Amino acid sequence: MKIAKTIDEIRMIVTEATMFDKKVGFVPTMGALHAGHISLIKKAKQQCEFVVVSIFVNPTQFGPTEDLNKYPKPFDADIAICKSNGADAVFAPSAEEMYPERNLTWVNVEKLSEPLCGKSRPTHFRGVATVCAKLFNIVQPDIAFFGQKDAQQVIIIKRMVADLNMPMRIAVCPIVREPDGLAMSSRNKYLNAAERKDAPLLYASLQEAQLLINGGECKSAFITEQMKKILNISKLAEIDYISIVNADTLEEIEEIKGKVLIALAVKMPSARLIDNIMLDVE
Ligand code: AMP
Repeated sequence: MKIAKTIDEIRMIVTEATMFDKKVGFVPTMGALHAGHISLIKKAKQQCEFVVVSIFVNPTQFGPTEDLNKYPKPFDADIAICKSNGADAVFAPSAEEMYPERNLTWVNVEKLSEPLCGKSRPTHFRGVATVCAKLFNIVQPDIAFFGQKDAQQVIIIKRMVADLNMPMRIAVCPIVREPDGLAMSSRNKYLNAAERKDAPLLYASLQEAQLLINGGECKSAFITEQMKKILNISKLAEIDYISIVNADTLEEIEEIKGKVLIALAVKMPSARLIDNIMLDVE
């Protein structure tokens, strides 16, 4: 497995692979890799002959009061995980390599970046879309693999690729969970024992929504109320949002119908957690 720290190095590595007509898969990450990331690498390996994983904690997607400086960076362990799961190359640039000057060019996917997480993280998706556009230009993959865990992110990235005619495809992989239902996340490490104990309530509330809908309930307001009751069992969890939206437009819907995304964010004292389910309702 090759490790590239510069843009020139990774470009040379990918160019060599494409000379042999290899299909290039790309898995962008911020490192601190866990089973969720591994599922993306494995899926990429199934569909592509050459898999590049990027490890880059992107400063432009963090707000001024967020956890950029304490974000975990277990680089050697991450490299070992990439290697043992079949990655062919890792691109791990420094912030200076990616942003040699103050960035003046931004990719802003309007409308889709505003609701849900965009409300409490107003510049987050601009940073995500910009770094993904840069990484896609650098790696030039055939397929980039993203997790459903970050549902709004993947909707935004798909729209960016379509709007900017990027010659590639986005593949979405299911959420990998802990045995108690908590969606795996690099930020779960921040949780103390009491917060970790309450964290599965996010998924429990989504399962309750699923149950209600399976039973014929179609009023978003009622479902949201029942989800709140479950989350409020925790004395530590502060609900940031619970949103029931059209999965294409991210617009709030009053009645459950068609492709529906139920997404939520909860602030624990030590970490903000997100989760979601996607449904297709007749
Ligand atoms: P991150 O390192 O948090 O930026 O995530 C990198 C990629 O891994 C994103 O596409 C995430 O959606 C995906 N990912 C993170 N956690 C999970 C998970 N629990 N299951 C599936 N994919 C995930």
